[in-house]
Amino acid sequence: MAASLIGMTLPSWASHLEHKLAPPPLLLVQAFVNTLDLDLRTDVLAHADEARAWLADAGLRDPGPSSPGQADTDFAADLQLARDVRESLRAMIARNTEGKPLTEAELRPLEQVTQQAKTRLEVTSDGQVRLGTAIPVQRLADGLAGLLLTIRDAQADGSWDRMKLCGNPDCRWAFYDRSHSRRGAWCEMASCGNKLKNRNLRARRAQAS
Ligand SMILES: [Zn+2]
Repeated sequence: MAASLIGMTLPSWASHLEHKLAPPPLLLVQAFVNTLDLDLRTDVLAHADEARAWLADAGLRDPGPSSPGQADTDFAADLQLARDVRESLRAMIARNTEGKPLTEAELRPLEQVTQQAKTRLEVTSDGQVRLGTAIPVQRLADGLAGLLLTIRDAQADGSWDRMKLCGNPDCRWAFYDRSHSRRGAWCEMASCGNKLKNRNLRARRAQAS
Protein backbone atom coordinates (compact mmCIF):
# COMPACT_ATOMS: atom_id res chain seq x y z
CA MET A 1 0.00 0.00 0.00
CA ALA A 2 1.43 3.34 -0.99
CA ALA A 3 0.98 5.93 1.71
CA SER A 4 0.58 9.45 0.46
CA LEU A 5 2.11 12.64 1.66
CA ILE A 6 -0.17 15.60 1.03
CA GLY A 7 -1.31 14.07 -2.23
CA MET A 8 2.22 12.95 -3.14
CA THR A 9 3.13 9.27 -3.37
CA LEU A 10 5.85 8.39 -0.88
CA PRO A 11 9.24 7.68 -2.40
CA SER A 12 10.28 4.01 -2.22
CA TRP A 13 13.02 4.77 0.34
CA ALA A 14 10.31 6.01 2.73
CA SER A 15 7.94 3.05 2.27
CA HIS A 16 8.61 1.89 5.86
CA LEU A 17 7.07 5.12 7.22
CA GLU A 18 3.34 5.14 7.78
CA HIS A 19 2.36 8.14 9.82
CA LYS A 20 3.50 11.44 11.32
CA LEU A 21 5.70 12.09 8.33
CA ALA A 22 8.15 14.96 8.19
CA PRO A 23 7.96 17.29 5.19
CA PRO A 24 10.66 16.76 2.56
CA PRO A 25 13.62 17.10 2.67
CA LEU A 26 13.44 16.32 6.42
CA LEU A 27 11.53 13.17 5.43
CA LEU A 28 14.82 11.57 4.42
CA VAL A 29 16.32 12.18 7.88
CA GLN A 30 13.23 10.56 9.42
CA ALA A 31 13.35 7.64 6.98
CA PHE A 32 17.06 7.09 7.66
CA VAL A 33 16.69 7.08 11.46
CA ASN A 34 13.65 4.79 11.24
CA THR A 35 15.46 2.18 9.11
CA LEU A 36 15.87 0.62 12.56
CA ASP A 37 12.46 -0.27 13.99
CA LEU A 38 12.83 -1.51 17.58
CA ASP A 39 9.14 -2.33 17.86
CA LEU A 40 9.00 -4.53 14.75
CA ARG A 41 12.63 -5.67 15.26
CA THR A 42 13.53 -4.84 11.68
CA ASP A 43 16.69 -3.13 10.46
CA VAL A 44 17.15 -2.14 6.84
CA LEU A 45 20.88 -1.69 7.51
CA ALA A 46 21.33 -5.13 9.09
CA HIS A 47 22.25 -6.89 5.86
CA ALA A 48 24.79 -5.54 3.38
CA ASP A 49 22.77 -6.13 0.21
CA GLU A 50 19.59 -4.57 1.53
CA ALA A 51 21.55 -1.68 3.05
CA ARG A 52 23.44 -1.02 -0.18
CA ALA A 53 20.19 -0.94 -2.14
CA TRP A 54 18.42 1.33 0.34
CA LEU A 55 21.32 3.82 0.61
CA ALA A 56 21.51 4.01 -3.21
CA ASP A 57 17.72 4.38 -3.54
CA ALA A 58 17.74 7.20 -0.96
CA GLY A 59 20.54 8.94 -2.87
CA LEU A 60 22.94 8.71 0.07
CA ARG A 61 25.57 6.61 -1.68
CA ASP A 62 26.36 5.35 -5.13
CA PRO A 63 25.69 1.57 -5.28
CA GLY A 64 29.31 1.23 -6.47
CA PRO A 65 30.94 -1.26 -8.80
CA SER A 66 29.41 -4.70 -8.70
CA SER A 67 32.82 -6.39 -8.72
CA PRO A 68 33.56 -8.16 -5.43
CA GLY A 69 36.67 -7.65 -3.28
CA GLN A 70 37.79 -4.08 -2.71
CA ALA A 71 34.29 -2.64 -2.98
CA ASP A 72 32.98 -4.97 -0.30
CA THR A 73 35.75 -3.97 2.14
CA ASP A 74 34.85 -0.32 1.52
CA PHE A 75 31.20 -1.06 2.01
CA ALA A 76 31.74 -2.72 5.39
CA ALA A 77 33.27 0.52 6.68
CA ASP A 78 30.50 2.56 5.07
CA LEU A 79 27.85 0.36 6.60
CA GLN A 80 29.36 0.80 10.05
CA LEU A 81 29.47 4.57 9.56
CA ALA A 82 25.83 4.60 8.41
CA ARG A 83 24.71 2.66 11.48
CA ASP A 84 26.75 4.88 13.83
CA VAL A 85 25.50 8.10 12.27
CA ARG A 86 21.93 6.79 12.46
CA GLU A 87 22.28 6.54 16.25
CA SER A 88 23.91 9.98 16.42
CA LEU A 89 20.97 11.48 14.53
CA ARG A 90 18.59 9.64 16.86
CA ALA A 91 20.43 11.28 19.77
CA MET A 92 20.05 14.68 18.08
CA ILE A 93 16.30 14.10 17.76
CA ALA A 94 16.15 12.83 21.36
CA ARG A 95 17.61 16.13 22.42
CA ASN A 96 14.42 17.80 21.16
CA THR A 97 12.33 15.77 23.58
CA GLU A 98 14.68 14.92 26.43
CA GLY A 99 17.12 17.82 26.39
CA LYS A 100 20.19 15.66 26.98
CA PRO A 101 23.40 16.89 25.34
CA LEU A 102 25.10 14.56 22.89
CA THR A 103 27.90 12.43 24.29
CA GLU A 104 31.37 12.31 22.76
CA ALA A 105 30.60 8.83 21.41
CA GLU A 106 27.48 10.21 19.71
CA LEU A 107 29.36 13.17 18.23
CA ARG A 108 32.32 11.15 16.90
CA PRO A 109 30.56 9.59 13.84
CA LEU A 110 29.25 13.05 12.90
CA GLU A 111 32.76 14.48 13.10
CA GLN A 112 33.91 11.70 10.79
CA VAL A 113 31.24 12.78 8.31
CA THR A 114 32.08 16.47 8.48
CA GLN A 115 35.79 15.72 8.05
CA GLN A 116 35.33 13.38 5.09
CA ALA A 117 32.56 15.18 3.24
CA LYS A 118 33.28 17.58 0.42
CA THR A 119 30.80 20.37 0.84
CA ARG A 120 30.76 23.23 -1.61
CA LEU A 121 29.37 26.70 -1.68
CA GLU A 122 27.59 27.81 -4.81
CA VAL A 123 25.73 30.85 -6.05
CA THR A 124 22.88 30.13 -8.46
CA SER A 125 21.85 32.32 -11.41
CA ASP A 126 18.98 33.77 -9.37
CA GLY A 127 21.46 34.93 -6.74
CA GLN A 128 20.75 32.29 -4.11
CA VAL A 129 23.70 31.16 -1.99
CA ARG A 130 23.66 27.44 -1.33
CA LEU A 131 25.77 25.00 0.60
CA GLY A 132 25.61 21.48 -0.73
CA THR A 133 27.45 18.32 -1.59
CA ALA A 134 28.27 16.80 -4.96
CA ILE A 135 25.18 15.72 -6.92
CA PRO A 136 24.68 12.91 -7.68
CA VAL A 137 26.16 11.74 -4.41
CA GLN A 138 28.79 9.01 -4.77
CA ARG A 139 30.42 8.79 -1.36
CA LEU A 140 28.44 7.96 1.76
CA ALA A 141 30.11 10.77 3.74
CA ASP A 142 28.72 13.27 1.23
CA GLY A 143 25.25 11.74 1.43
CA LEU A 144 25.28 11.85 5.23
CA ALA A 145 26.63 15.42 5.17
CA GLY A 146 23.58 16.24 3.04
CA LEU A 147 21.39 15.01 5.91
CA LEU A 148 23.26 17.32 8.29
CA LEU A 149 22.70 20.26 5.92
CA THR A 150 18.99 19.42 5.83
CA ILE A 151 18.96 19.44 9.63
CA ARG A 152 20.82 22.75 9.65
CA ASP A 153 18.12 24.29 7.41
CA ALA A 154 15.34 22.80 9.56
CA GLN A 155 16.98 24.24 12.66
CA ALA A 156 17.05 27.64 10.97
CA ASP A 157 13.35 27.58 10.01
CA GLY A 158 12.18 26.02 13.30
CA SER A 159 10.83 22.77 11.85
CA TRP A 160 13.61 20.72 13.50
CA ASP A 161 11.95 21.20 16.92
CA ARG A 162 9.02 19.15 15.62
CA MET A 163 11.19 16.10 14.99
CA LYS A 164 10.80 13.89 18.06
CA LEU A 165 11.42 10.41 19.35
CA CYS A 166 8.53 8.32 20.62
CA GLY A 167 8.45 8.39 24.43
CA ASN A 168 8.15 4.60 24.59
CA PRO A 169 11.70 3.37 25.38
CA ASP A 170 10.98 0.15 23.46
CA CYS A 171 10.03 2.14 20.36
CA ARG A 172 12.13 5.32 19.95
CA TRP A 173 10.60 5.87 16.51
CA ALA A 174 11.28 9.28 14.98
CA PHE A 175 8.08 11.20 14.22
CA TYR A 176 7.13 14.68 13.10
CA ASP A 177 4.87 16.47 15.55
CA ARG A 178 2.39 18.57 13.58
CA SER A 179 0.21 19.26 16.63
CA HIS A 180 -0.59 22.89 17.33
CA SER A 181 0.66 22.61 20.91
CA ARG A 182 3.86 20.81 19.80
CA ARG A 183 3.42 18.48 22.76
CA GLY A 184 3.05 15.17 20.95
CA ALA A 185 4.99 12.44 22.75
CA TRP A 186 4.11 9.20 20.94
CA CYS A 187 4.61 7.83 17.46
CA GLU A 188 0.99 6.67 17.83
CA MET A 189 -1.30 7.13 20.80
CA ALA A 190 -3.14 3.86 20.06
CA SER A 191 0.02 1.78 20.26
CA CYS A 192 2.81 3.38 22.28
CA GLY A 193 0.85 6.05 24.16
CA ASN A 194 -1.73 3.71 25.68
CA LYS A 195 0.79 0.92 26.18
CA LEU A 196 2.96 3.21 28.31
CA LYS A 197 0.02 4.67 30.19
CA ASN A 198 -1.25 1.19 31.07
CA ARG A 199 2.23 0.09 32.13
CA ASN A 200 2.64 3.15 34.37
CA LEU A 201 -0.83 2.60 35.80
CA ARG A 202 -0.01 -1.02 36.61
CA ALA A 203 3.25 0.04 38.24
CA ARG A 204 1.44 2.65 40.38
CA ARG A 205 -1.22 0.09 41.41
CA ALA A 206 1.47 -2.46 42.29
CA GLN A 207 3.22 0.16 44.39
CA ALA A 208 0.00 1.16 46.15
CA SER A 209 -0.95 -2.41 47.08
ZN1 LIG B 1 6.22 4.53 19.55
